[in-house]
Amino acid sequence: MTNWLRHSAARGILTSRYPDRAATDEELPEAGRTPTARPEELARLSDGSRSLCPTGAIGERAVDQGRCIRCERCLAIGLRPSGSTAASVGTREELRGSSNAADRRPTPVAPFGTSLHVFMIDVGSCHACNAEVLALGSPYYDLNRLGLFFTNSPRHADVLVVVGVPTPEMAEPLRRTYEAMPRPKTVLAVGACAIDGGIFAGGPRTGSSVSDIVPVDLYVAGCPPPPVAILEGILALAGRGATAEEDR
Ligand code: SF4
Ligand code: SF4
Repeated sequence: MTNWLRHSAARGILTSRYPDRAATDEELPEAGRTPTARPEELARLSDGSRSLCPTGAIGERAVDQGRCIRCERCLAIGLRPSGSTAASVGTREELRGSSNAADRRPTPVAPFGTSLHVFMIDVGSCHACNAEVLALGSPYYDLNRLGLFFTNSPRHADVLVVVGVPTPEMAEPLRRTYEAMPRPKTVLAVGACAIDGGIFAGGPRTGSSVSDIVPVDLYVAGCPPPPVAILEGILALAGRGATAEEDR
């Protein structure tokens, strides 16, 4: 026991300080951020350059974070790694880079800081998004300190986290899982596949996005997004914002 206490005192606190402090570069690495360019630079790109992007994420005015799989091919045509350590969390329009006033964030499900239960369903992921969500259950992120808990039943869940691009076989289970949740219920689509099909968009077995099957409240971009970005999405649904960008 004494040895254990001495060891703990020597190591200090290893648990993530997020969201009280900004995400560190290790928690939100540069490789996980969508490349960026000024709108005028994007407008000048030829169709040939734009077609380098395997998911069609490079638009005329902005890069669609929801589609971007962070492959970095576009660095060869002048886009730059993002310098921002802000997670890529938002409504679909926010991730597209548009500012549509009608596209509002959802009403928080736990606005008074009450606890929140999270259920995850994998509707066709490569397992990487799934693994990043499960990493939130590790002692490093220690979700319980924030009043967040994973639950094994959608009947106890406030937030449904969906990963993967829905296969035909998983469309009905996803619908039934959503219906089993008590109200108010919210859905967080995690990863490019869940948002818009990602690298599998348009495939014969992966025709739909999650929002074609259940209403999605918020999206976490990435392929896969790091756990801290998923945590930011869950906290946003709970009504607890992350640390402001300017404070980071
Ligand atoms: S998917 Fe790849 S090429 Fe397209 S914007 Fe993202 S990093 Fe660039
Ligand atoms: S978004 Fe990327 S990491 Fe996540 S399931 Fe799809 S291919 Fe895998």
